[in-house]
Amino acid sequence: MQVHLINPSHLSFGVGVITPRWLYVLAAATPAEYGDPIITDETLETLDPATIHAGDVVGIGIHTGNALRGYEVGRAARERGAWVVFGGIHATLYPDEPLSLGGAHAVVKGDGDVAWGVAVSDCAAGAPKPLYEGGKIEADQFLPARWDLLPPDRYMWASVQTVRGCPKHCSFCSVWRTDGQKPRLRGTDAVVGEIVELRRRGFRFIALADDNFYPVTLTDISMAARRADQGQRQRLEALRAERFELMEKLAKLPNDTVFFTQITMEAAEDPAFLGAMKRAHIMGALVGVEAVTPAGLKDVYKDFNYAGENLVDRLRAFREAGIHVLGSFIFGLPSDRPETFEATAAIATRARVTFAQFVMLTPFPGTVDFAAWEKTMENDPTRIAGVPLTRHWLIPQELRPKVYTPHPVMGAEEIRDRTQAVWDDFYSMSKIWERSNCVKSMKARLAFVLISKLYRQMYANTGIATDSARVNRSARWARLIAAPCRRLFAGQPMPELQIPN
Ligand code: SF4
Repeated sequence: MQVHLINPSHLSFGVGVITPRWLYVLAAATPAEYGDPIITDETLETLDPATIHAGDVVGIGIHTGNALRGYEVGRAARERGAWVVFGGIHATLYPDEPLSLGGAHAVVKGDGDVAWGVAVSDCAAGAPKPLYEGGKIEADQFLPARWDLLPPDRYMWASVQTVRGCPKHCSFCSVWRTDGQKPRLRGTDAVVGEIVELRRRGFRFIALADDNFYPVTLTDISMAARRADQGQRQRLEALRAERFELMEKLAKLPNDTVFFTQITMEAAEDPAFLGAMKRAHIMGALVGVEAVTPAGLKDVYKDFNYAGENLVDRLRAFREAGIHVLGSFIFGLPSDRPETFEATAAIATRARVTFAQFVMLTPFPGTVDFAAWEKTMENDPTRIAGVPLTRHWLIPQELRPKVYTPHPVMGAEEIRDRTQAVWDDFYSMSKIWERSNCVKSMKARLAFVLISKLYRQMYANTGIATDSARVNRSARWARLIAAPCRRLFAGQPMPELQIPN
């Protein structure tokens, strides 16, 4: 009996940007008696079903974006006679779907670090349960990934997790509901041990794949300090101290290490934290800006963010502290108007964000937005390929609409066109070249241009283009430049590197 772990994708690029960490964590969670799992990441290449045999156990992790491909893979695996187990955020939210559409024998809900091993053993015994409740395990149970199973020279960035969960409650995000609002911080020694292993293997660029790297803000602490009971303040201060302890340890890693993470904008008001990030080699962060107007921020329950000139100042604070920002913006919010697109692009430029992504508001399951939208759609008769819009992830990729929620003043096509125009403008050659002055040498500037173009091809054209010819062209182009890009990120293996004291 062989265990397989599969990350489904309808597009393969030959080279991956970030290692799908869950594959290697579940490899660690696979009981040793069943041997090392065979790992297939379809963002590299498509699964060959002939590798699956009767009696094998096939684990498939899905989020909403790749659920449909996941179900195809599940059915193919079941036809081969394998035991099929689904997990991941989407399977957690809709456990019945993989059972009815994906050929699943079992679904693991929640964290898989512990439950996956139980499901594998039950399959091996021929008696899987339909549902395993993985729940939200404590941080000391998080498993380090099996990086020894990573194929060589396929990924640009490795990924390590330092915290699960986010205390915020943004309306378009499911993280706080699926991973919980209580930040679960992993022990600093476990994190650093895994990073040292990755550096030994030649990874210099590592994504800290956290929901929110800054789970305690200064405002949280000062609010807790005003309470009569000081217990909460003490708990928050202990969490903050742990973050600093981690960053002090990261600072002792070799100087050419580069980390990237995700963080809320509130960190811009915390110079001590930004300084510690910089010393810890955290050179970049994805910051969810979402909207540039107060009304837009209200639309997404993100009024802890800033708008207008204050927003520009906050984003610049990251840059001034030496941390590059990948700004994430959403278009299609109810308060958006045609002029919002240009205003957003202008703010992104003035705020000196190094990279940006412009996504169209999509109601994703598990979010507050989705629940509200689903209610309004109760009597909507629209079906595409027989699927109601409220199950949009089941619509074949090429027929899937790009905008779902009716907008008060703009049509779906107008939102898509304007979004595409903002991508085109932000990633025009002249603008990329201007931004490339954030690095010094000519070689580094050329690398910056290449990476910017790759980012745009992988995420913009394959995400929002309407015609499949354009998607295919972009995927081919991305495949071509992905390999040289990967070489830019590769580091020298450091087999002698020791864990810093
Ligand atoms: S969008 Fe970011 S800050 Fe908001 S809930 Fe999700 S992870 Fe937290």
